[in-house]
This record gives sequence, C-alpha cells and structure tokens, in this order.
Amino acid sequence: MNVIAASALLRANADDEPPFQGEGEMRRLCRGFDWDASALGSVRQWSPTLRALIDVMLAMPNPAMLVWGPEFVQVYNDAYRDIMGATHPAGLGLGGQASSPDTWHTAAPLYARVLTGETVYIVDAAIPIMREGLLDDAWFTVAYVPVRDHEGIVAGALVSMHETTDRVFADRENLRICAALDRMNAAAAVAADVQPRVLVRRAADQLLIESERARVDAVAARTFAEAAWESAEKARADAEAANLAKGRFLTVMSHELRTPLNAIGGYADLIELGIRGPVTPVMLEDLRRIQLSKQHLLGLINDVLDYAKLETGTLDYRFGDIAVWVALSAAEALISPIAQSKGIQLEVHGADEGLTVHADHDKLCQILVNLLSNAVKFTAHGGQVRFSVAPTAHLVLFHVRDSGIGIAPDALEQIFAPFVQVRTDRARLQEGTGLGLSISRELARGMGGDITVQSAPREGSTFTLTLPRRLA
Ligand code: ADP
Repeated sequence: MNVIAASALLRANADDEPPFQGEGEMRRLCRGFDWDASALGSVRQWSPTLRALIDVMLAMPNPAMLVWGPEFVQVYNDAYRDIMGATHPAGLGLGGQASSPDTWHTAAPLYARVLTGETVYIVDAAIPIMREGLLDDAWFTVAYVPVRDHEGIVAGALVSMHETTDRVFADRENLRICAALDRMNAAAAVAADVQPRVLVRRAADQLLIESERARVDAVAARTFAEAAWESAEKARADAEAANLAKGRFLTVMSHELRTPLNAIGGYADLIELGIRGPVTPVMLEDLRRIQLSKQHLLGLINDVLDYAKLETGTLDYRFGDIAVWVALSAAEALISPIAQSKGIQLEVHGADEGLTVHADHDKLCQILVNLLSNAVKFTAHGGQVRFSVAPTAHLVLFHVRDSGIGIAPDALEQIFAPFVQVRTDRARLQEGTGLGLSISRELARGMGGDITVQSAPREGSTFTLTLPRRLA
C-alpha cells in the first residue's frame, strides 16, 4: 500500500456523496427538490456525466442553465434566477415547454439545432429581466452549447449567457450623437437663409468643427477603451473556459473510471466470499492482488478528481474543531502496518488531549496520511519515521520527519508543483502521480494553513503542516 491506496481507504465513500454540495439558493433548492417525480428521475440513477455537468453549471458565475433529455428538463444556477423571472422557482426541474409555454415556439427550433451538435449563438438578444423588483431592459449574448451523455450522444444543452446591456447602450449613444450632428447641419442651413449669411455660416462652421472634434475624441476614446476591455474580457473568458473544460474533462473521466473499478472490486468480493464456488489459497492470493491493484488505481483516480476540484474551485470544506490526538491516531492506524511491512520504525509523539485545530477532518487526515506515506515510501528498510506535534500560541505544527533519501535543494519547491516526481540516483521513479503534495498544500492553504519542507540529500526530510489552533 502507498499514499494513494491509504488515502483511498479514507475516501472510499466519496463517490456516494450527494450532489449539489455547497452554498447558494439553487444548490439548496436542488438538494430539497423531488427529482424522483421529475423527468430526470432519481438522482441515484443519474449518469456521472449529468452530475458533473450540473456541478459545473451551478458553479458558473454568469447566468447558465442545463437542459437535459427529450423534454429539455431545466436546471439553472443562481445568476439565471433573474432570467427566469416569475417562472423561478417553479421552472426548476420542469421541461422547457411546461415551464414557458408562451415562448416555447421560439426556444424549440433553437434546441432542435443544438441537438444536431451545432453550437448556436444569439448576439444581443433583448431579454427584459427583474432587477430590484422592477422589469428592466437588458441585452444578452446567449450560447447554446450541445452536451453529450456518456455514450457520446447529444443529450441536452448548456445555455450560457453574457450580458451586453452596457455595450448596446454605448452603441445607441453613438447613433444619438451622429443624429444630433445631422440635425445641427440642417438647422445651420435653414438659419443661413434667414440670418446675415456670413455670421451664421461662421458660427455654424465653428460649432460643427468643435462638436465634430468632440465627437471624434469621444468615439476614439470609447472605441479604444472598448477594444481594450473586450480583449481583456476575451482573454479572461478564454482562460476561464479552458479551465472549466479541463476541470470538466477530468471530473467526468474520473467518475467514468471509478464505476467499472467498483464493479471489479465487487465481483472479486463475490468470488472471495465463495459465492461462485470453492476458492483455493492460490486463488485467494490472486484476489488479494486484484483488490490491491483496484485500491491503488482508485487512489490515483481520486487524486486526479481532487486536483480537478481544486483547479475549478469546486472543493468544499466542512470545518469543525478537531482534537489533534484523534487525527494523529487515525493517521497512525493507517500507516503503521505499511511501516512495519517495510521494517521502518514509526515513532508517534502524542498530543495533549485538549489540543484542537479548526479544520476539515477528512482533509486533515488526507494530508497527514500523504505526508506519512511519503516518509515511509522514501525511506529504506531499517530507517525511522517520527511524527510529532508542536503547538504555538495560535498554530499547531505537525512534523513528519524521516531518515530517508532526502531532497536536493533545487527540488524543494518543485515537489509541490502538480505532477512532479524527483528522480534520484538511488531511487527508481516511485509509484504515484506527483499530485499528493500539491493537493496537500492546496488543502492546507484552503484551511488557513500551509506545508513547508526542510531536507538535504541522504539526510532525510521534515515536512511540517501548519494549521490554525482553536483556543479553548
Ligand atoms: P507522489 O508521491 O505521488 O510521487 P507527491 O506530490 O506526494 O507525489 O511527491 C512528489 C515528489 O516529492 C515525490 O515523487 C518525491 O520525489 C518527493 N518527495 C515527497 N516526499 C518525500 C520524502 N519524504 N522524502 C523524499 N522525497 C520526497
């Protein structure tokens, strides 16, 4: 067993976590919604793809809605509530036609195009919305993006909206200035007929030159500012879209990989229990290896999933006050068999019973198990690993010290970067993804703490996790 297999044990049930975890009215409404009675059916039957898409949609900052299945069942995010107007919250979980029978004739042909795999854009659609209790003019550019189910068939659409009201108003302002100038020209021409010609001509010309200059300046400044804003906005949107797509891909892949893996474990269990017939000792040994490999692969997948959640900012923390000795014992219980099997002496220095940290219990254990597994992994037979705790006035420091191969000075920061594994002349590239430390550090930072390291080649390493102390 290694870091990943051990942390997989801690998170064996993460897959069964109910969806819609986190803050916000729509997540709350989705949690309380009777999906069994909707066309989408029971949440437990939803494909991982649908779950992941809804997760991503709910996390989007701009108004977004996922429509799914032959009835175009709607699930939308907090920002989309204004768009729904009076149909919120009744429209949640309803088919498109049932939710908005009056406007369905305009939406239906759009969705028909999306179902063929086409992404449909509508630029500057006028969609009045409720703002502070009043109906307000607003314009949006809307993208209808086809989304596919796990079999690759278009099963719905992600509707994503970007408000363009400000630009539409700016365009109108430009038109208004041009029209005013035209009127001024016409007025000057009329005046010239009834007033002394030269004076009026001069005054009108001067006025025209000045207003033309002001107009050109204003338009140039606006065009420049708009171009700058648009390119910054586009760069930001591109980066966001790329990040979302990456996170979505990793999440969907991780879910898709875990399902068959759980089946492998389940069938191996059935055989091991003798349900399929008598099992010989050789077969039992093979089954044990199947289970170990399954745990290992599950650990790798869980790491990739955690990393994807960190990248897309969709990881939730459940903070509580945790007795340090409890976390210490949980991590020790998981690591001591591994240390024993490698002939490594594991020394754990207990903490005061009253010592408490403010953290997420599972994530704290995940970090400790990762640091301890690394210590055991990178220490040779006969070495030592020492696990101790040192409180300060406001912090608790967890030290994991090993007498292992150590780390070269130039690699000390690199090891916290994702997918980095350091090759040394003594150690072949070890099993793992190179994600453990990067995930652990992000988790520690997410809980108001950090992870640091002190090490020298062949002199062992000390990793220190710092967390805020909860004072009694
Ligand atoms: P993984 O263990 O999956 O490779 P980590 O992010 O946990 O990924 O570790 C990254 C790299 O940091 C490891 O591959 C190893 O080179 C180095 N490392 C981590 N912990 C130790 C340690 N206790 N002693 C020596 N090297 C370590």
